[in-house]
Amino acid sequence: MLDDKQPQLTPLDKLGEFGLIDHLTDSFETQNESTVKGIGDDAAVLNFNQNETVVTTDMLVEGIHFNLAYVPLKHLGYKSVIVNLSDIYAMNAIPSQILVSIAVSSRFPVEALEELYKGIKIACKNYNVDLIGGDTTSSTSGLMISITAIGTTKKRDLVYRDGAGENDLLVVSGDLGAAYLGLQILERENEVFKVNPNMQPDLSEYDYLVGRQLKPEAGKNIIELLKQLEVRPTSMIDISDGLSSEVLHLSKQSGYGFNIYEEKIPLDPMVIKTAEEFGINPITCALNGGEDYELLFTISQNDFSKIKGNPNLTVIGHSTEQNAENYLMLKGSDSAVPLTAQGWKAFEE
Ligand code: ADP
Ligand code: MG
Repeated sequence: MLDDKQPQLTPLDKLGEFGLIDHLTDSFETQNESTVKGIGDDAAVLNFNQNETVVTTDMLVEGIHFNLAYVPLKHLGYKSVIVNLSDIYAMNAIPSQILVSIAVSSRFPVEALEELYKGIKIACKNYNVDLIGGDTTSSTSGLMISITAIGTTKKRDLVYRDGAGENDLLVVSGDLGAAYLGLQILERENEVFKVNPNMQPDLSEYDYLVGRQLKPEAGKNIIELLKQLEVRPTSMIDISDGLSSEVLHLSKQSGYGFNIYEEKIPLDPMVIKTAEEFGINPITCALNGGEDYELLFTISQNDFSKIKGNPNLTVIGHSTEQNAENYLMLKGSDSAVPLTAQGWKAFEE
């Protein structure tokens, strides 16, 4: 992927900082009316009229959040944007702008950053957001990417983490656990590669899982679906750290306990099959794996008929009472185990 020995690669210092910024951002065009001034001045100018503005930021550090041995830079660019947009959607807002700051060491040629920005550009296009600025600086070791996303919504549409009421239904979009298993596959193949670089792994069998890890999507469709169904969640969060941890957030912030049902947790057949291959319980992947970027939200029971039977939405439990504990209700028995952020160890063989 990155091969410094190839002669056609361009060292960063050939372009200089300003040349580099121009080179990377030249082809980005703004698409939103709210973007009054994008890249090129001392600051961007935005105009949202009467809407509430939602802002979030996330930093990704090489060696901590990603491993360039098996993460293509284009995917990294795409995913860095997605994780931020996911947070905007989790407020029931629509993202419209991003700022991208990078710190990069001289071991990266210009072509590597081009790949990164290709991924950023595809995300901007797919999600209709404008790149309106950022910062570029050098780093002594690896690559760091910090992205800030901005979005808007009407005040009455905003959804916080703390809004759940008594006996609300707990709903999740999509399916869970796949991104975690995708990472396990990539790490396993990377170990094989380190021992024998001539081994060309065939990952096609695991396409779904690896895709969920490398190229996640944010909750745009779900937010639009909820609007169309006329369902306004009472509380919402995106699943970045695993279902358990996110349920605990909704619980802590609302003060209500939650019961979730093991048999209701949506799992793709590939998750079940591959978890077995790794000797882990697929439910553990969903509870503690993370990086699924699905939306987890509560709705009033009155709204159940509106979402019932929708293949993208699964009711996995409900809130209980103020100050109650959080439980995972086990399949085929009356027993329950307390939900913990660290995962429920007893599940692991
Ligand atoms: P300043 O010196 O005022 O910080 P810069 O020269 O860093 O300005 O940036 C010039 C313009 O390019 C600004 O609009 C800034 O937001 C944008 N910019 C800088 N770095 C990046 C980047 N990595 N990605 C996108 N836009 C950037
Ligand atoms: Mg700057």
